[in-house]
Amino acid sequence: MSSGVRLLVLGKQGAGKGTQAVRIARHNGVPHISTGDMFRAAASARTPFGLKAKEFMKRGELVPDDIVIGVVAERLAKDDAVNDGFVLDGFPRTRVQAEELQRLLGPGGLDAAVDIDVPTEIVLHRISGRRVCRTCGATYHVDKPPKVDWLCDRDGGSVVQRDDDKPEAIERRLELYEQETGPLLEFYEALGLLVTVDGVGDLEDVFGRVLDGVETVRQLRRSAPQAQR
Ligand SMILES: [Zn+2]
Repeated sequence: MSSGVRLLVLGKQGAGKGTQAVRIARHNGVPHISTGDMFRAAASARTPFGLKAKEFMKRGELVPDDIVIGVVAERLAKDDAVNDGFVLDGFPRTRVQAEELQRLLGPGGLDAAVDIDVPTEIVLHRISGRRVCRTCGATYHVDKPPKVDWLCDRDGGSVVQRDDDKPEAIERRLELYEQETGPLLEFYEALGLLVTVDGVGDLEDVFGRVLDGVETVRQLRRSAPQAQR
């Protein structure tokens, strides 16, 4: 059993990053730490950084780097993460955050940064084809519509495209992602931590590739003298 992994997962919206992150965490028996959950938990537990972050979120503003890092540091200091490890999902988003994370964990503190790589046109198809029931939020895809004329199979609600899922909106988000993540990928590549996984195909296949990729990087690092463990 490969327990005790310390990983982070990167990937565009629609690449299946969250799904894979949850699976890797479960497989290794470590907590899945997603940014959204972490912020909600920190705010409701009224931790020092959680309270600061809440102020920004209430005003609808972006939470500054130092506070984001503070929330992450508080979470990573908990027993489960310290003893077992973690799978980070949604953090870091910027190079500055990545550098802070390295400082926080120390050398040898991260096993791998897994990039679930899916070509933009496939992600565009996945997201722009998505349709959502106005009543219950059930999701469909133009490739797999409801049985009757865009009415929800469960409750007959109308099934529509959200504004966020329209191609212009997706392209804007993907562009921003590319700008932010390019430097991150270079950063982890230089540290020998980057695992690029082909994210096209079914969930099981992609998951198998993730496990193989992580194992390869861990072995390489174990045999490399600069990996201080
Ligand atoms: Zn519905």
